[in-house]
Amino acid sequence: MFEEIYSPVQKITFAPFNNLFVKRDDLIDPYISGNKWRKLKYILAKAKADCKTHLVTFGGAYSNHLVATAAAASRSGLAATAFVRGEEVKNEMLLLCSLFGMELIFTNRESYRDKQQLFDQYFASDAQAYFINEGGASIEATIGCAEVIEELVEPYDHIFCAAGTGTTAAGLLKGIQQYGLNTKLHIIPVLKGATFIKEEITKYTPISDHLELHLDYHFGGYAKTTPELISFIKSFTAKTGLLLDPVYTAKMFYAIQDLQQQGIIGTEEKILAIHTGGLMGLFGMRDKF
Ligand SMILES: *Cc1c(COP(=O)(O)O)cnc(C)c1O
Repeated sequence: MFEEIYSPVQKITFAPFNNLFVKRDDLIDPYISGNKWRKLKYILAKAKADCKTHLVTFGGAYSNHLVATAAAASRSGLAATAFVRGEEVKNEMLLLCSLFGMELIFTNRESYRDKQQLFDQYFASDAQAYFINEGGASIEATIGCAEVIEELVEPYDHIFCAAGTGTTAAGLLKGIQQYGLNTKLHIIPVLKGATFIKEEITKYTPISDHLELHLDYHFGGYAKTTPELISFIKSFTAKTGLLLDPVYTAKMFYAIQDLQQQGIIGTEEKILAIHTGGLMGLFGMRDKF
């Protein structure tokens, strides 16, 4: 299932940019969306190499990572269990998880904090169980994400990507360093006060001056939106034909536009935005539109 992918780079028409390109990782798969596919690639390879047949992971009730893990597990003939943060709820994301055969264990916020403890409590005696951290954060995930850079056939002045945990950002930075590119990596954390991102990236690769963090595009915090962000999504999609999710990719494209308006990036510079997928998050937020 990880053999062939379709993730073209497309130029988009979005005034006043003349060299704005998008890496369409959102096209890789409808359920194993974008960067979650990148992150799971080597996690699953490691699980298989270790003869594990049961993936155990963690996430919120709207987690793209849970749907991706559920879909990837079922296609690879593996079992999957997820500890879902908070009390039992029903939504379209968890419905997909269940359809892909994932077992869901709703866990109160207190117990959810210690993931290793939860894993040990339920699966200590299960030699087949494989621990996957929340969001897939791991060295394997960064190796998969670095392949985005490997796939590029042209150089870019700037690469943009949204960040939650920062694992994808670490992988991209690693790729840029490995290939000795002269590219600025702009990371847009979607959480408020995400100073932890730097620390997270340092776990996997040294911070270099390729990296630029933009901490002011969180719009109030994780999964928070403002009327301005929603109207940006509407006009962006109407102009470009590209769908954005309000949690991640909308905040990234908003930042690109805003940095251009501030004169920090130029309209002729070659810019690559990584579309990390996650479009199902749009439907969970339909009331905002
Ligand atoms: C999970 C996710 C991210 C964030 O990835 P991290 O590696 O956690 O920083 C970005 N975009 C989308 C669409 C996602 O689903």
